[in-house]
Amino acid sequence: MPELAPYAVSEHNTRGRNVREEVPFGRSEFQRDRDRIIHSTAFRRLEYKTQVFVNHEGDLFRTRLTHSIEVAQIARSIARRLKFNEDLVEAISLAHDLGHTPFGHAGQDALNACMKDHGGFEHNLQSLRVVDVLEERYAAFDGLNLCFETREGILKHCAPASAAGLGAVGERFINKQRPSLEAQIANLADEIAYNNHDVDDGLRSGLITLEQIATVRLFAMHLETVRKSHPDLGERRLIHETVRRMINTLVSDLMHETERNIVAQRPQTLDEVRNAPPLAVFSEEVREMNRELKSFLHTHLYRHYQVMRMNAKAHRIIGDLFKTFMEDKRLLPPQYQRQAEADQARAVSDYIAGMTDRYAIKEHRRLFAVDE
Ligand code: MG
Repeated sequence: MPELAPYAVSEHNTRGRNVREEVPFGRSEFQRDRDRIIHSTAFRRLEYKTQVFVNHEGDLFRTRLTHSIEVAQIARSIARRLKFNEDLVEAISLAHDLGHTPFGHAGQDALNACMKDHGGFEHNLQSLRVVDVLEERYAAFDGLNLCFETREGILKHCAPASAAGLGAVGERFINKQRPSLEAQIANLADEIAYNNHDVDDGLRSGLITLEQIATVRLFAMHLETVRKSHPDLGERRLIHETVRRMINTLVSDLMHETERNIVAQRPQTLDEVRNAPPLAVFSEEVREMNRELKSFLHTHLYRHYQVMRMNAKAHRIIGDLFKTFMEDKRLLPPQYQRQAEADQARAVSDYIAGMTDRYAIKEHRRLFAVDE
């Protein structure tokens, strides 16, 4: 085990698991969490779930699985350098999207709208629900019985109203405390990963053009450097060289700024991290450039008419499925029928949220196409 900073999460300061277990042999508690996540059903489904592009649109686009691996890569690099718990950031990164619906953000919005009179749907809460309740693998408990700090990292955001019902893991939203540095880093690594791979996927799909994105400062400054040093470079490599430099800028800025904050605030313990202002942050200048990039993606990619069409389809599919299963729970697979006895809406929501893109499309066809 590499040396950890005194304020990093470790096996000495962890709040442990809800159900007590034997100390693992040959691996740390957080390696065990990571391993449980990798072996879960929800993790395998990430391969067939998407963020912006729908799974069948092309083989080259990111899926939630490759996204999660990219997040883990970025977060681990930062954690290792800053002496944070690398196994924990890896576990959080790999689990952070487990609760996502099919069809990316559109799917989440659609399911949340369906659930508005039944407690709503929120993907962070659902990720926690997957690891706490829904995975069925162990004899002694529901879910994966992960360590507190892994669960805390998975629950990135949460409205205070929902936090009240979550026990210890919800407390920080009520007490206005920060999560561990490992959770803070995994959260920002997520943002670095998706902004940059959306640029890459957006350009590859042709939905955004080089000319358009050359108006974004973070992209433009690196594009210019690459063009100057390699004037004859083909477009594919030009884009890759630019995007990798963007990631580098964001990662090194985050490392430096976090190091600076730690030196200034001098936390000695994990509790001091929790009570300090957020220590893992970008510098003001890079935060501004990052904001500009995000707003570009919003306007030009996430609101592109082809993406909007797919979103509309996703809304229709999820809305139809929800309505059908709410009208007649006998159409649900047996395990969800049993769950529906207690709470039909939540059972339907769990069933839909667990679907991959292609499964949701197939299920819709099975229910609505007369010749299926
Ligand atoms: Mg993510």
